Amino acid sequence: PDEIGVGELASRMKKTGAEVVKTLMKMGVMASLSEIIDYDTAALVAMELGCKVEKEVVVTIEEKLIDTTEDKEEDLIPRAPVVVVMGHVDHGKTSLLDYIRHANVVSGEAGGITQHIGAYQVDVNGSPVTFLDTPGHEAFTAMRARGAMVTDVAILVVAADDGIMPQTVESINHAKAAEIPVIVAINKMDKPTANPERIKQQLTEYSLVPEEWGGDTIICPISAKTGEGIDNLLDMVVLTAEMRELKANPNRSAHGAVIEARLDKGRGPVATLLVQNGTLHQGDVIIAGTAVGRVRAMTNDKGQKVTEAGPSVPVEIIGMSEVPEAGDDFHAVADERMARELAEQRKAEQKSSMNSNVGKVTLEDLFSQI
Ligand code: GDP
Ligand code: MG
Repeated sequence: PDEIGVGELASRMKKTGAEVVKTLMKMGVMASLSEIIDYDTAALVAMELGCKVEKEVVVTIEEKLIDTTEDKEEDLIPRAPVVVVMGHVDHGKTSLLDYIRHANVVSGEAGGITQHIGAYQVDVNGSPVTFLDTPGHEAFTAMRARGAMVTDVAILVVAADDGIMPQTVESINHAKAAEIPVIVAINKMDKPTANPERIKQQLTEYSLVPEEWGGDTIICPISAKTGEGIDNLLDMVVLTAEMRELKANPNRSAHGAVIEARLDKGRGPVATLLVQNGTLHQGDVIIAGTAVGRVRAMTNDKGQKVTEAGPSVPVEIIGMSEVPEAGDDFHAVADERMARELAEQRKAEQKSSMNSNVGKVTLEDLFSQI
């Protein structure tokens, strides 16, 4: 759209090629009929020849298919925060997620949250909170690498008997890059060797200054083993989220991120989707990366069949043509045929970018060969 062939330009202006080439030459541009010139040059030639050029607006399939209109303020309603638990290995991330999951099983609710789908939602005194339950922070890293911003608040788990470790620092950096608030959970407070003061001291070196020392970092001493301090931690999560005034529009087609995906022998591709905006319905056509499909069935984090999922709600779905990748964006769309076309286009692009990376020798490669 920002360039045109000299011959093409001539024929569109109903001039001869020679006229255009001559005009270009007068402007100091040596170009043959088969050459491509940029928009600005074309515009000058056209003016010279008494014509006017306009940029062609090319609407891609993606633009036709995916609704990217901004929501109006009045259509937005509060949504649950999406929380990620990060920290060094063995500092207690899984234990904390398990404790929260089980402590929030409402008595009488069959089985409670038993289904591991990669994310779950709990109720904190009437406020829903969504936790990403993916192992470690690998998924979070993968998602960030793909530009998906799904989390609103990070809980940084640091073991009180250990301290800041390499993955703790990594986690802090991830949260900073994602520009999300960090709440520090000093875990394993039940241990006699727990030394929270030392951890607080260490945190200041990473510009996480505890509130009690005049900073703005919320620190919650907890034990994922006894449950001590976890209610307070959850209150702090809700408080922090409330300050962000997170909102979404449930009345539009769904958009969100793939949290987890795998191939199930019997059911085919299974994906956990986190709806970030809009509402996902059973029967919706969705596209996620190069995967397309119609949502055949949806299951929530409690293993119950559901027919719709609104903002911040995680659901496991079946019906995709192939397994999407964690971190892929997904969009519910109106036109299945066009969605397939877009998926094919994306596949072709992937292939060609893969090919262009093969056999390309960089300067660095050359130097390292010397
Ligand atoms: P992750 O690698 O961060 O997911 O850590 P885990 O949750 O797997 O915990 C690592 C180990 O620490 C396990 O043996 C847990 O039982 C133990 N652990 C986790 N939280 C606590 C705690 O609050 N107190 C004690 N005493 N042990 C804990
Ligand atoms: Mg773990």
